[in-house]
Amino acid sequence: MTIYSSKIDLKSNIQIKTPLNRCCNCGTTTALSPVLTELKRSRFMLLAGTEITIKQELPYCPNCLKTAKRQPVGMVSKFLMAIIVFFPLLVSLAFMPDSIMNQIPTPIILLSFYLIACILVFWFYSLQKPIGEQTSYYQPIRLKKIKQKFSGEIIGYVLAFTNQQYQNDFIAANRDEINKTTIEIISA
Ligand SMILES: [Zn+2]
Repeated sequence: MTIYSSKIDLKSNIQIKTPLNRCCNCGTTTALSPVLTELKRSRFMLLAGTEITIKQELPYCPNCLKTAKRQPVGMVSKFLMAIIVFFPLLVSLAFMPDSIMNQIPTPIILLSFYLIACILVFWFYSLQKPIGEQTSYYQPIRLKKIKQKFSGEIIGYVLAFTNQQYQNDFIAANRDEINKTTIEIISA
């Protein structure tokens, strides 16, 4: 779920080169097709936030094609989703006997229901598992951070990869930008 206050159009002179020799998720080298992949970075402030999207052509095999569109779901998003799950759960309070309701303070009941909602959301996401050789159920390349000047101009990207081989290829292809620290790689 995304609640965004604004979409920003920003300038960046950084050229990211993406190798197209292997699937960026499972690493296979056959039947690849390049897919324009939207990598997003969100910043939340209470319920609002901003989002920056960069589009990169990345190679996927037919089995991993679907993962190109699956944005990884962060902790903040999960806790927000739990709020949505929380309200239908509250309906079940109507079926609780008054004798129980009168004994437990309302804040405790509400907190317990929110905790149950969180457990349900986190459990649901824990079921989303990669198939076969896949290194991720989600996009295998993550935009972890965007370094910006005060003017908004982008001066650096921090990326993470779930496929180690693809990460190595990427580092080799972007040696110059990595040396300039305009591209930084961290572990996924
Ligand atoms: Zn693949």
